[in-house]
Amino acid sequence: MREKLAKRLVVATTNRKKKKELVSLLEGLGIEILTLDDFKNAPQVREDKKTFKGNAIKKAVVISRFTGALTLADDSGLKVEALGGLPGVRSARFAGPAQDDIANIKKLLRLLKGVPLYKRKAQFVCFAAIAYKGKLIRVVDGSVSGVVSLEPKGKFGFGYDPVFYYPPLKKNFAQLAPSIKNKISHRYKALKKTKKILQGVL
Ligand code: IMP
Repeated sequence: MREKLAKRLVVATTNRKKKKELVSLLEGLGIEILTLDDFKNAPQVREDKKTFKGNAIKKAVVISRFTGALTLADDSGLKVEALGGLPGVRSARFAGPAQDDIANIKKLLRLLKGVPLYKRKAQFVCFAAIAYKGKLIRVVDGSVSGVVSLEPKGKFGFGYDPVFYYPPLKKNFAQLAPSIKNKISHRYKALKKTKKILQGVL
């Protein structure tokens, strides 16, 4: 039984597009990946910590206690220098509780109105926490730097991808096919470290 549990990983997110990215980034581990959809009545975890790290740990610990399985939770978001780090931990609900990506982008562009490109530096940040049976195993992070563009571009991805310009490829994240974003993103960098840890644990 213990062996069977150890070969399963629960990805603790309800964000459909983020879940897709996480599952694709975890390919090749040779383990069964479950999501919260596989656990009816899983507790709703309030992301009320002041840091990405705190929220990732809280989600991983609470969900792993509930499922009894190895659990991975990520907390991520966008930090904009000119806004003192906002939207930060409030990225998903920046424009209100509805978690509306388009409204969030509109608010961000409104706050940055008149700010020239060279002052629109931003970072996507991802913290990934692994826990088992209510105990934290490790937490790792990854980040990627870019610039908030003047207007949205592209059709891929989610969240702030349409306004996150990535200078090395001269494209906004939403203009990059998922296979490309998944080789450079903050989540990719955090998950690369996560995979190494999981290989050790399994
Ligand atoms: P979380 O589910 O609390 O981690 O919320 C993360 C929020 O940060 C998302 O709803 C997006 O608004 C934003 N975010 C995180 N990662 C990305 C990304 O890869 N692309 C675009 N937006 C992201």
